[in-house]
Amino acid sequence: MSAEILVVDDVPANVKLLEVKLANEYYDVISAKDGYEAIKKAKEHKPDLILLDVMMPGMDGFETCRKLKEDIEVSHIPVVMVTALSETADRVRGLEAGADDFLTKPINDIALFARVKSLVRIKVLLDELRLRDKTGVEMGVLDEGENTFTQNVSGSRILIIDDDVVQLKHLTERLEKEYAIEGLSKPESAVNIATHGTFDLIIVSTQLVDMDGLRLASQIKAQEATRSVPVLMLVDEDDTRAMLKGLELGVNDYIVMPVDYNEMSARIKTQIRRKRYQDALKSNYQQTISLAITDGLTGLYNRHYLNAHLDNMVLSALHNNKSLSLMILDVDHFKQVNDTYGHDVGDEVLKQLSALLIKDIRSADLAARFGGEEFIVLMPETDKKQANDAAERMRRNIENAELKVSNDVGMLKKTVSIGVAYLNEMGDSGAALLKRADEALFKAKNSGRNQVVNSTLE
Ligand code: GH3
Ligand code: MG
Ligand code: MG
Repeated sequence: MSAEILVVDDVPANVKLLEVKLANEYYDVISAKDGYEAIKKAKEHKPDLILLDVMMPGMDGFETCRKLKEDIEVSHIPVVMVTALSETADRVRGLEAGADDFLTKPINDIALFARVKSLVRIKVLLDELRLRDKTGVEMGVLDEGENTFTQNVSGSRILIIDDDVVQLKHLTERLEKEYAIEGLSKPESAVNIATHGTFDLIIVSTQLVDMDGLRLASQIKAQEATRSVPVLMLVDEDDTRAMLKGLELGVNDYIVMPVDYNEMSARIKTQIRRKRYQDALKSNYQQTISLAITDGLTGLYNRHYLNAHLDNMVLSALHNNKSLSLMILDVDHFKQVNDTYGHDVGDEVLKQLSALLIKDIRSADLAARFGGEEFIVLMPETDKKQANDAAERMRRNIENAELKVSNDVGMLKKTVSIGVAYLNEMGDSGAALLKRADEALFKAKNSGRNQVVNSTLE
């Protein structure tokens, strides 16, 4: 996979240098010479990562970053600030502007690629989720999402794993003003506690006495329950090996010791926002799946939708004192079709029966595929006689239909058995209605098939 990186710097030589380094690692590079051009190109190209110089004439890097992060079109693109200044005050300003990380000039290659790789990985995941989300919006099942990058994250739950009791106490005291902190000084139980709690972020010290902190972090990252929870590691300032190893193992970010609390707080914020964003997309996607309302083979409503809709229809009919009827159709000896001609032909038959069904019902009626070869038609404002007539007409139509199939036989004929039920007085329910229709269907099957039985005729 080749990622596209936008390099922003007012000094052409700096752009060139990064361009060469990145191109050597097979990244595609585009460039911009100032903040305005950066925003324009970010919107145009939607790169996978932006490397942004801080010191630029006109709009500086902080301002540019803030503008990028306020724009929902590009706010999900990770931004790495490139700065000559290693002052923590600048780092904090950058993080508050929404930057995802820093690189200090002159740029260390290993740090550059470790950072780029880990941020691009997150971006790829986000893109995938955003695409699914978009499909949901297009289907009309989802609302446009909110820009969670700017949301407030105070009150988030953070687990801190550190066996240095004094340091743990300090961290907890500083962070608990803003977050709900759980401190853990016994790392042996860490994986268990991490996976059983619902944390928004986990902080792991890499300097544990009896345990390898990096190993612990990677174990947490390997668990299904905590895979998407951001993990920050606490590393010694000079321990570049741990920083790189950790990033390689999937740790999301690191904080150097001695800890700068402003920087720590800003990094925590960035990671939790990112997680919230991912969670929101995921839950929207799951919602889309469970709400997907039609059956793939026949295009009829599916059982899930029918169940939801049936209860609404029953309540409405009872409330408005209107009649409501329901029929269940089950194809007679359908298994024979599969057994004789194969499953594909079976599918063709089901599709055509569905089409007949749709053609034959009123527009206010609702047809659903209830099971394999079982269908339901829900008929509002339809009394017993009308419902029986409709079912009988349907049965005859199907009996007379020539169902085209794509094998040598060319055409098949099938019949259906139908059970019909009607809504009674107050206290009746969708489930009860279904049950009565199903019992009627059972009788239709037992008395020779290809017939309509209604639930009140014994
Ligand atoms: P009966 O008259 O008693 O209803 O007999 P039947 O053979 O129709 O009933 P049974 O419930 O035994 O068999 C239903 C068959 O429908 C079994 C199953 O393999 C088949 N079936 C269910 N879903 C599909 C589907 O999506 N495609 C195909 N081709 N067959 C399906
Ligand atoms: Mg059946
Ligand atoms: Mg059947």
